Amino acid sequence: MKKERFWLVVSFFTAVIIYAWVSSALLGGESPLSIRQLNRLFASLGFWFFFLQFVLSSRLKLIESGFGLNRMIHAHRLLGRLALIFLLLHPLLLFMHEGLFSAGTPFRIAGLTVLLMLMLTAFVASFHKKLKLSYELWLNIHKVNYILFPVALIHIFGNALPGSLLYYIWLILTLLFALLLVEKIIREIKIRKNLYEVVKVQQESKDIWSLYFKGKQLAYQPGQFMYLRLLRNGKLSSAHPFTISSSPTWEMLTVTPKELGDFTATIKDTKVGDLALIDAPYGIFSFLNYDCDRLAFIAGGIGITPFMSMLRYIYDERIEKQVTIIWGNKDEEALCFQEELDKMAREMENIKVVYVMSAQESWRGEKGRIGGKVIDKYVPELARCHFFVCGPPMLSLAIMKTLREKGVPGRRIHHELFEF
Ligand SMILES: Cc1cc2nc3c(=O)[nH]c(=O)nc-3n(C[C@H](O)[C@H](O)[C@H](O)COP(=O)(O)OP(=O)(O)OC[C@H]3O[C@@H](n4cnc5c(N)ncnc54)[C@H](O)[C@@H]3O)c2cc1C
Repeated sequence: MKKERFWLVVSFFTAVIIYAWVSSALLGGESPLSIRQLNRLFASLGFWFFFLQFVLSSRLKLIESGFGLNRMIHAHRLLGRLALIFLLLHPLLLFMHEGLFSAGTPFRIAGLTVLLMLMLTAFVASFHKKLKLSYELWLNIHKVNYILFPVALIHIFGNALPGSLLYYIWLILTLLFALLLVEKIIREIKIRKNLYEVVKVQQESKDIWSLYFKGKQLAYQPGQFMYLRLLRNGKLSSAHPFTISSSPTWEMLTVTPKELGDFTATIKDTKVGDLALIDAPYGIFSFLNYDCDRLAFIAGGIGITPFMSMLRYIYDERIEKQVTIIWGNKDEEALCFQEELDKMAREMENIKVVYVMSAQESWRGEKGRIGGKVIDKYVPELARCHFFVCGPPMLSLAIMKTLREKGVPGRRIHHELFEF
């Protein structure tokens, strides 16, 4: 589903909820503008946005394939905040209307429990980095929402007017939530049935390793990513996103993680014969999604991986698009794949590779940070180019700003951040 269409669908169904709320109020013989009914509106919108949290975080192919998982997670955060605001306004109005201590029924206790837990998960989601919580702990706290939703259903059905349009909408959302869970379970069963085997572990630089997997042939676009879990010594790791660095033309599937934290530091301990659970493909960061004959790839550090996949594909398929890749690193030591990139550039005239070193005085090529000057020098026809940017968030955002200042329209700038 495309981005615009997604927001149109969300807006349409939000309008349907508002319409259903008005009709339910009228059915109950109350003015929709009474405090009691306004309070119900906030509850209804909060619950609807709460439901969307599950749709947006469950990697549904229908939405993901046009919208991209990055955008889905972004929308998930945005609507999560909206859900919390509406759900907080709901008891506030209720207390204004009925007094603080009137809320004693089991349905209300269920609602209050959900609200308190949601506040906790929202707090952890916003501050987990400052609190120095591990990603896994943060994720597990976040997953509590799957229990909170059925509790919220108890609250909402306890207060809904049977026979009203709103009541039927809640029934539909309950069914959809159950279907989402079933889809998740079926996906997990399929992943566990199609295990991949590690057939090669290759060191690419001092802290970068490639893992090669053999298993069921996967249909993917160059530039897409996977969720990887490794089964080593009988222990299953948590799922981490990694770009598929191989080309769809290859028989084997590869990822190229750089050591960064707890999990990536253990990649080098992976052994041939270890098993992997792979959930893929995800993402829309691929030149195949755009009609263009000139490509400018701009990478920072390990942000090279989606471009390796795309370049390998372009090389294998002998695609004649003009491709310039500008790759920024600290120094030569940080480079990987250099031989392969140079070979591609030597053998195909339409591929140009530019290395930029930010902290190596002795480097004979481009030095400093990738900015407007380097882009102007190596990508002369900005107006005809599609730009693909991938790297650390700070660098990627700075490059995108530079491109926009140069007048490149947003629809021709595509980016992948290695962070959700
Ligand atoms: C679409 C995408 C593609 C990526 N491709 C690559 C790649 O090709 N090569 C590469 O080296 N890195 C890639 N990354 C980054 C990689 O996922 C993280 O470096 C890795 O998960 C860090 O895990 P850790 O336990 O080693 O580090 P930690 O110190 O635990 O985490 C460091 C940061 O990584 C992120 N992170 C950690 N665990 C997860 C998780 N399970 N799911 C999502 N994010 C997480 C969080 O932002 C966290 O703050 C990619 C990330 C994304 C989102």
